[in-house]
Amino acid sequence: MTEQWGVRIPLSEGETVRRELIASGVVDRTLRPRVEDGYLLVPGVEEIENAVKLEFGENSVREELPRHEQVGGLVILQEDDVEGAKKILRNRPNAHTALFATSPVEGEFRTRTFKVLAGENTTQTLYNEYGKRMVIDLSAAYFSARLANERQRLVSQMGENEYILDMFAGVGPFGVTLGAKAGFMVCNDINPHAVYLMQQNLAMNHIQSVVPMVGDAKNLPEMLNGMKFDRIIMNLPFTAYEFLEAAAKLAKPSCTIHLYSLVEREGEHLDDIKKAFPGATVTEKAIRSYSPTSWHAVYDIVIG
Ligand code: SAM
Repeated sequence: MTEQWGVRIPLSEGETVRRELIASGVVDRTLRPRVEDGYLLVPGVEEIENAVKLEFGENSVREELPRHEQVGGLVILQEDDVEGAKKILRNRPNAHTALFATSPVEGEFRTRTFKVLAGENTTQTLYNEYGKRMVIDLSAAYFSARLANERQRLVSQMGENEYILDMFAGVGPFGVTLGAKAGFMVCNDINPHAVYLMQQNLAMNHIQSVVPMVGDAKNLPEMLNGMKFDRIIMNLPFTAYEFLEAAAKLAKPSCTIHLYSLVEREGEHLDDIKKAFPGATVTEKAIRSYSPTSWHAVYDIVIG
């Protein structure tokens, strides 16, 4: 505690008077106002009118942090900045590791390589999305929290006992979120490590209606031996539209397909969609911007 000049304001007028004092530039912002016996005690920078010496706690000074995003206990910095990484971990008690991506999202598995800047030597963490827990490992399998709201949107659209297929399921965030309400769901990915993590995620969330599968999505019609679905999720942003013909073979006569794609103009994939699903009703929505000239879009394709 620090002794400083301060004023005692009856609580009923406390906020109004405090704002007036701030506007007059006489409030000491390094100290914390406090309440005592029905009065708000406001620290001043000098001996202002009616001021008396009072005790105040210090305001914690927030450290300026480098730009970063946080996924579970991992923070990912935009710069290769070890000191900045340590500073972030000091200020984020729930983060255990600070990373810098040394590659873009690349390859068939859509993964990145990372340098550990500070904290534990790992790219794995536990992530919580709307109460569902998931193990993710950013160098082994793709994961992004940016579609969290999309997952909630799809759950809210679902009917009872739907048959659902996720063609590019990664570590299973759609499976974990939609699986509890689905009658039956297949979550497929070509990356075996993603499916290994998906199995853990399904078990951790007690989801029993989802079957994990490893395979190339273009072979799904044969692999699934004629099985058909009420809802199909296609989240492979650069090339999902190339799998529309396969999706058409997997759709029930009445089906909703959610195609996620990075686009540079509205209606970019409409021709491909109309070719695979003639007569479908298509709604396109921008989800978030990706670069100055492109954005992440979702096409909801309703047939039947
Ligand atoms: N849906 C997941 C999510 O939202 O976190 C993962 C989406 S990620 C953008 C795309 C996934 O598709 C990756 O996990 C990658 O391994 C998988 N993938 C790429 N090509 C594939 C293919 N031909 N067949 C099946 N999965 C594929």
